[in-house]
Amino acid sequence: MVKKTIRDFDISSKRVIIRCDFNVPIKDGKIIDDNRIRQSLETIEYALSKKAKIILMSHLGRIKNEEDKKKNSLEIVGKRLSELLKYPVIFIDETRGEKLDKAISSMKDGDIILMQNTRYEDLEGKKESSCDLDLAKYWASLGDVFINDAFGTLHRAHASNVGISQFLPSGIGFLVGKELTALSSLFDPERPFLIILGGSKVSDKIGLIDHLITKCDKLLIGGGMAYTFLEAEGYSIGNSLVDRDSLEFCNKILKQYGNKIILPVDSYCSTSFTNDGPKNLRDINEIEYQEMGLDIGDKTVELFEKYLKDAKMVLWNGPLGVYEFDNYKKGTEAVLTFLSKSDAKTVVGGGDTAAVANELHLAEKLYHVSTGGGATLEYLEGKELPGLKNIEEV
Ligand code: AMP
Repeated sequence: MVKKTIRDFDISSKRVIIRCDFNVPIKDGKIIDDNRIRQSLETIEYALSKKAKIILMSHLGRIKNEEDKKKNSLEIVGKRLSELLKYPVIFIDETRGEKLDKAISSMKDGDIILMQNTRYEDLEGKKESSCDLDLAKYWASLGDVFINDAFGTLHRAHASNVGISQFLPSGIGFLVGKELTALSSLFDPERPFLIILGGSKVSDKIGLIDHLITKCDKLLIGGGMAYTFLEAEGYSIGNSLVDRDSLEFCNKILKQYGNKIILPVDSYCSTSFTNDGPKNLRDINEIEYQEMGLDIGDKTVELFEKYLKDAKMVLWNGPLGVYEFDNYKKGTEAVLTFLSKSDAKTVVGGGDTAAVANELHLAEKLYHVSTGGGATLEYLEGKELPGLKNIEEV
């Protein structure tokens, strides 16, 4: 199934609605990581080169009250986008209404309009998030062609993606194309193919493990989720995080694929979930009952690198320790740095791991760093992404 892309439509002088994923992290009124805006540039620049009339849409955060509206206005995104494009972006502080209609009807070729956060429509009746078809029809009436380039929301059926694509000729943008190509390469991987999983909960990764365990050569597990596997193996893991509901799954998978699964052999432990508590390096069978493992230890880093050095492809999802604490981010950083220097094609499956890769400026040295979180996981689990359903095929 090959989906139509923006290249498959004649968009010159046409009104092109591009659904972007501008859901960037904002702190104290500032964008702290503009990667998602940067990743959208290629499609917008292409539409500009074709002299289309470009209407941009995105959600930002969640909108439950008037206070959320102030915090999550897309105005700041419009400014950053304009800086990156070196081109004017007209921001319209509305998701529907006279101001928006007028601005669009008076657009000239090559104009760019960014409309307000689509989730403003969630305040009354969750119209965006529940895919209200009247809203989708109205939004579709503003354009001639719809391009979905919001990879991070492909796993959601919202009015601004699935909805609009029911009423307009629809294709995907370059970012969605790039994501799908990179992620689908893992379904028929170059070998050895290794998967690294971390993060806190096993339950979030069960689908992915089930779908990819037969395809990978080794599965390296770190982060909080490793302790559930270690507990299932019979280790005393003290106060470390355990996802009790997933113990049975861990038992089953260890029994069936034990030879593929590599668990930590040591951990940096503390007696409190803080950055500044006591920090002890423990072999995995020496964790004391009041301690919790907060990062993989040095021997584990070495062990993981021993397997990774021959890898041809690597998929990584989830940090190997509590990377938010400076004292417990070293394992994640060490393995990421190792992979950035290796010839293996490393795909980072979005979320926290992508944030660390961007923070360390290592993203460009890796094969692919996904902009999605939930969408990436669902795609890798082999699920159909609702956001692609109405996109035309070539
Ligand atoms: P997830 O959302 O499941 O990918 O988990 C990401 C979170 O896992 C991050 O916020 C990390 O702080 C957390 N995490 C990683 N390692 C550990 C650990 N050893 N103990 C507790 N939480 C962890």
